[in-house]
Amino acid sequence: PDPSLARDQRVAIEARGIVKEFGQGPTALRALDNVSVTIRENEFFTLLGPSGCGKTTLLRMIAGFEYPSEGAILLYGEDIAGLPPFKRPINTVFQSYALFPHLTVRENIAFGLEMLGRPKAEITSRVAAMLKLVRMEELAERRTDQISGGQAQRVALARALAPSPKVLLLDEPLSALDYKLRKEMQIELKRMQSETGITFVFVTHDQEEALTMSDRIAVMSKGKVLQIGSPWDIYDKPADRFVADFIGETNFLVASVIATGSNMVRVRLATGAEIDATVTEGWQPTGEVTVAVRPEHARAVASGGHIAGMVENVVYFGTDTHIHVRLDGATGFMVRQQNSRSQSCGFAVGDRIGIDIAADAAQVLRD
Ligand code: ATP
Repeated sequence: PDPSLARDQRVAIEARGIVKEFGQGPTALRALDNVSVTIRENEFFTLLGPSGCGKTTLLRMIAGFEYPSEGAILLYGEDIAGLPPFKRPINTVFQSYALFPHLTVRENIAFGLEMLGRPKAEITSRVAAMLKLVRMEELAERRTDQISGGQAQRVALARALAPSPKVLLLDEPLSALDYKLRKEMQIELKRMQSETGITFVFVTHDQEEALTMSDRIAVMSKGKVLQIGSPWDIYDKPADRFVADFIGETNFLVASVIATGSNMVRVRLATGAEIDATVTEGWQPTGEVTVAVRPEHARAVASGGHIAGMVENVVYFGTDTHIHVRLDGATGFMVRQQNSRSQSCGFAVGDRIGIDIAADAAQVLRD
């Protein structure tokens, strides 16, 4: 059972033991390798992972464009293998919005409803509601070859939401937008999801996007799901080294375990310094381990600290400064320090400094 799933919520989609192989024999490619995820009703659920990890394949399977080699997709508890895509109460927004350029915004949004043969009055009021939801009322009569990328994105969303699908699938829908517009649309999408109460399954390779928008995230790599949890869970308690590295930034240090407690170990770093590190429940690592420290949980100090090194680079980011340190023993380490008004971080390239690792900052991770 998935521990991140609350008991009182209805399950909208369940992927159960999905295997997908493309091709046959020795050249067969296993795109999904025993993937199981449970997505709640009304949830903003994100499939996150690097290119080629199998996100789109899983999404296409939920839509019905692809069939599992093994396993089943359940919609509200029922196996939907026999349902063709157009009979599933599921809609998809693709990366290329695929709008009809010669139709107006209004006509594009109405299109799906007309195909379904809905009564005229219903279509009119539904389209009006969708125009309002995506804030495109003023451009309703504009042809879609005469609107911006961000506006086209809104229309594509409105068109997909118009028939009130139970589930909306979104495959990297924001990747064509510039940074500022993407940030805006992230907040907009989240708002639309909570206003409509429709279950969203969102695919992205952008970890920041996933953290900002999702109720829960499934982190995927090479056809497997490595971790499922809230953004906080995933960032703060990564299941292994891949997840810690993929989500946010992390420093990795080699250390050896010198004492074990419950969910805690004492480790000795290469410098001889000893620190306490947390451990995932039910695991008792021994010997040489990898310790992960987030850059914002470490502090650069002029003298002392748990490890020493030399400042290699100081990068100013407005809200914070990244101090890149080359440790004695050659490992790189990054400290992220919040900036304050009219005061530099106080360290310059070439300075010998110490790094203080705050209590609770270190975690032992599985490789
Ligand atoms: P991206 O972010 O690049 O879209 P993804 O995580 O969505 O990547 P998928 O598109 O699901 O990855 O592909 C997973 C793997 O399956 C890849 O190695 C891909 O090359 C392969 N694959 C996908 N579709 C097919 C197909 N129709 N035939 C053969 N191989 C395929």
